[in-house]
Amino acid sequence: MTLPHLRLASNAHDRLGVRRHDEAWLEARWQDPNSRILIIDEARVRPQEGRVRWVSPHELTTAYAGALQPGLTADQLPARRLLLGERDGCTWFGFRSDGLLDAEGWLTLREVLLGAVADLSADAPLVFHGIGLAEWHRATRFCARCGGRLGARAAGHELACPDCGRVHFPRTDPAVIMAITFGEPGSPSEQFLLGRQAAWPPGRFSTLAGFVEPGESLEDAVRREVFEEVGVVVGEVEYFGNQAWPFPSSLMLGLRGRAVSHELLIDRDEIEEARWFTRAELLAASREGSVLIPQGVSISSSLVQHWFGGDLPGTW
Ligand SMILES: [Zn+2]
Repeated sequence: MTLPHLRLASNAHDRLGVRRHDEAWLEARWQDPNSRILIIDEARVRPQEGRVRWVSPHELTTAYAGALQPGLTADQLPARRLLLGERDGCTWFGFRSDGLLDAEGWLTLREVLLGAVADLSADAPLVFHGIGLAEWHRATRFCARCGGRLGARAAGHELACPDCGRVHFPRTDPAVIMAITFGEPGSPSEQFLLGRQAAWPPGRFSTLAGFVEPGESLEDAVRREVFEEVGVVVGEVEYFGNQAWPFPSSLMLGLRGRAVSHELLIDRDEIEEARWFTRAELLAASREGSVLIPQGVSISSSLVQHWFGGDLPGTW
């Protein structure tokens, strides 16, 4: 079984970190007609005919010229470009058009991922990289130390403060997402824990998740979150896998934990309902549609399918 979340990590590009300060090389690649550019506006993209649209440098400067020129001079352009890297013999960039183009037709990354764009998986690492960087630029305009206005460098991978000299780097927030089971592994009576938030559509359930706190191990983050959310004590925890999840800047760390208590004491602030399911119960509930489990490309889906031993109907 190929785990669903791995589809979004395949076809990764070479990020070319060593080239980010090489302005002559960057300019040459930016001018190369084979280079591909993803225009990103306020951390959103504008697909065309159901696909993520990459443009050539020529298309960027001609088709978009009317929209770009009033607010942008040529010497401001490099500050808006994001070097993503190389793949398939091309150099790939993002371009932050924030505020320069009309507002029609832009989609958030979540909307792109949840079906507005066909076959994102081939480009997911590039799109996640570009939108993740653009979102960081959008949200990080001033120095956290002194309040100075930050300026981009390193092809969009650093923000430097002209006042105090501090350099800021893109942040990624670790979050744990966990398959919690109870009972003899692999036995018919073994149970899997799923919870749902009040804001979700009826029937939607997922694995529990939460952010890692400063100074905390991943294993302890799993134990703390599960106890806080549903009152279950977790013993042994092991690593499962990970998934970049830039909504806006998370790295989801999948883990499997074995519960050593069974009673559910639900924290209604975070979780509306939580239930234990055997494999037979989960299959029956998802067949009849009373329980909808996570969609195809998330690591949550992989955690459920890996435990269940295959695909389940009734996904969201
Ligand atoms: Zn500063």
